[in-house]
Amino acid sequence: MHQKRKYHSLHPLLVILATLLILILIMGLSRLFSKSKTKKSILIANSENVSETNDADLKNPLSAKEYPNPSADLAESGDSKGDSIQASILAAQEKDQAAQEKISEAEEVSKIELGDIERLSQMYAYDEALELLEKYPEKDSEEAIALKAEIESAQSKCVQKNPAETMHIFFHSLIYDTSKAFDGDHKVDGYNQFMTTCLEFDRILEELYQRDFVLISMHDLAKWETDENGNQVMVPGEIYLPENKKLLILSVDDVNYYEYMEEDGFANRIVLDQDGNATCSMVNDQGMTILGDYDVVPILDKFVDQHPDFSYQGAKGILAFTGYEGVLGYRTDERYKEENPNYEQDIIQATEVAQVLRDTGWEFASHSWGHINLKAVALEDFQKDADLWEKNVVPIIGETDIMIYPFGFDIVDGMADYTHDNPRFTYLKQKGFDYFCTVDGSKHYTTHINTDHVRQGRRNLDGYRLYHNPELVDDLIVAEDVLDEARPLPVPPL
Ligand SMILES: [Zn+2]
Repeated sequence: MHQKRKYHSLHPLLVILATLLILILIMGLSRLFSKSKTKKSILIANSENVSETNDADLKNPLSAKEYPNPSADLAESGDSKGDSIQASILAAQEKDQAAQEKISEAEEVSKIELGDIERLSQMYAYDEALELLEKYPEKDSEEAIALKAEIESAQSKCVQKNPAETMHIFFHSLIYDTSKAFDGDHKVDGYNQFMTTCLEFDRILEELYQRDFVLISMHDLAKWETDENGNQVMVPGEIYLPENKKLLILSVDDVNYYEYMEEDGFANRIVLDQDGNATCSMVNDQGMTILGDYDVVPILDKFVDQHPDFSYQGAKGILAFTGYEGVLGYRTDERYKEENPNYEQDIIQATEVAQVLRDTGWEFASHSWGHINLKAVALEDFQKDADLWEKNVVPIIGETDIMIYPFGFDIVDGMADYTHDNPRFTYLKQKGFDYFCTVDGSKHYTTHINTDHVRQGRRNLDGYRLYHNPELVDDLIVAEDVLDEARPLPVPPL
């Protein structure tokens, strides 16, 4: 009898414990499965993304952290039972969850710090900053009132910018070790022409920042609106920034870490470090995998961390992927199913990395599956390629509406309009693409916002451009000051 009563008194406690466990599971799963985040959550994630590695890591691979235990990464990823558990629990525990949401909202409010609000304001997210300040528990304190005045004053000084005047610059994966990239083999000339080194990228960022450029998202350029006839149309986005600031989009092509780049001084993957931040790995001469700032992603993350006013509302850059060798350095394409012993695990890891990148302000683009000339190939091959990309890449990186043409080759001649009788355009539109990027280094900016798509030319800041046409980039940088001393000169002509 006594025992039974004891059992009964324990029962509610067990239920609470079980509910808590399930809620933790749901929160973990929903984080894993959520494809897109709101701008606000990107901003918050950005403000929490304080990276620990210092600049010394960039030049000294020996000080970089060791590769984290992959099984530790997997432990966070949930399992295939997740979906059914999530569905049944959600239905049964709706009430509890509402209560839990209230608790977590209260917890969130108590965690707000003035520093985070200030950071939002530095990133020109004034409305979000003021909104958060309104929720701040000590919003009537002297400090909070002063901060509010500061934010309102900064906001009042902003002017509307013309998205058509946005500069768009692009890079490829950066050369981390120049002695390996420029080692005299047959790939040297290509690397010298089309690649940029980590040191050059550091110098470029510093100079762009000094010249008041601010990174914006491709999606800041235009937004969808309903016109008077009830049709969805694209209209220019509304971007408000201090008068001196200039709009900039940055993209990186072929973030695939191709097999041909192995042992040539490039990173080999984007991975998560032990704090869950995106960083790069590479294999050193001893065959050890080490982590560090070996490419654009961690370098720019750190730069924005230190200079939040270089990013408009948390924007970073666009990473463009082909599919034929997988994405982000993971051999995830179906071609590798037999060949790659870690095939399933690589898909899980690449998906996790992609989610972290999205959460911290990065956007993704298609660069075609096979890096093909999308205008020259037969229509049938064009469609096959788009299908392969959708099948192999979208499940990992999520849906995207940005197309970055391989080789910069547009699907039409020159700047001819995209029309709906163009089967290539309509096929890409069907696949969800609205933003199309070419290469045009001859002008400062070429952005066309049309009723159902945006077209933009991009400018390369690679060895060829820096060496041969410094005058074409002098609105951005002084090319001569940027060039890496380790780059073999002259850069060969194309
Ligand atoms: Zn490419």
